[in-house]
Amino acid sequence: MAETVEKKKLQIAIYWGAACGGCDVAILDTDAFILDVAALADIRLWPLAVDGKYADVEAMEDDELDLVLFNGAVRNSENQKIAELLRRKTKVMVAMGSCAHIGGIPGLANEFSRDEIFNRAYLDNPSIEEGNVVLPVAEKKVAAGTLEIPHFHRAVRRLSDVVEVEYFLPGCPPAPDQIKAVLLAVATGNLPPAGSVVGASDRALCDECGRSKDEKKVTRFFRPWQIIQDPEKCLLEQGILCAGSVTRAGCGVRCPDSGMPCRGCYGPPPNVMDQGAKFISAISSIVESRDAGEIERVLGEIPDVMGYAYRFGLPASILQRSTRSQ
Ligand code: SF4
Ligand code: SF4
Repeated sequence: MAETVEKKKLQIAIYWGAACGGCDVAILDTDAFILDVAALADIRLWPLAVDGKYADVEAMEDDELDLVLFNGAVRNSENQKIAELLRRKTKVMVAMGSCAHIGGIPGLANEFSRDEIFNRAYLDNPSIEEGNVVLPVAEKKVAAGTLEIPHFHRAVRRLSDVVEVEYFLPGCPPAPDQIKAVLLAVATGNLPPAGSVVGASDRALCDECGRSKDEKKVTRFFRPWQIIQDPEKCLLEQGILCAGSVTRAGCGVRCPDSGMPCRGCYGPPPNVMDQGAKFISAISSIVESRDAGEIERVLGEIPDVMGYAYRFGLPASILQRSTRSQ
């Protein structure tokens, strides 16, 4: 009997590519549900919590896994190799979190070339001790053999740029309830059509935000700490850069409800082709001026416009990356 129950358990793997670990923590944040997951599924690989080996995954039959939750972007050769390996071994691949979905914060590195990133990290960095400069090399021969580290790719890519993905679970990180819903949908076979964005809405975040809008224009923009905000009114109309109009709803309006502007982590809603370009258009249209030069001056005061416009989605944008990163 015990053997029959074991066979019915879902076979799942959880993996992180170029990620911060927040998505894995969000899985742990499902609290007591994590015990249901343990009853529901065998976790065959989860680098954060389980000592699985790549060789164990390689030894699996193709499609042996029911579900892979892949968080993190594809930054290096190891991320790509494991994405391709897990793709072969699973029936359902989920791009979990902003980095796997649209590139995420690691995707901002696409503003720079590989040499610029290496210079900043290993050569021109105030935390490096004088005379202690070490550049990583992909292969090094030592007495015990050859040591290898992953190759650093020229640009950050989304998971769907590398392998076929069935579902996209947005958020930085996704809310624990979204994660529960995906696991239960796979467990019950109650799955939406392949290619769907799950656990989120097709509307813009502004449609779910309770702050009032008065079509008020602004003469300058502020960082949240630079003004005392009105807690009832739209943040953007107070000059605080909020990306709610160009961001998919589904998070429960987490940031504006806490007095912080939306940064766009759920990615664009379906009718927005390029989240950053649309955001620049939205903030340009709220400036109290019809003069292009004056609008440009006000926008020019924003520190790091690229960082605001493409905080989470540069690899998914029309630009994708700087030409310097080719
Ligand atoms: S811009 Fe931000 S604060 Fe204003 S309505 Fe949209 S989500 Fe709410
Ligand atoms: S409000 Fe925006 S940045 Fe904050 S969690 Fe929601 S989608 Fe992400």
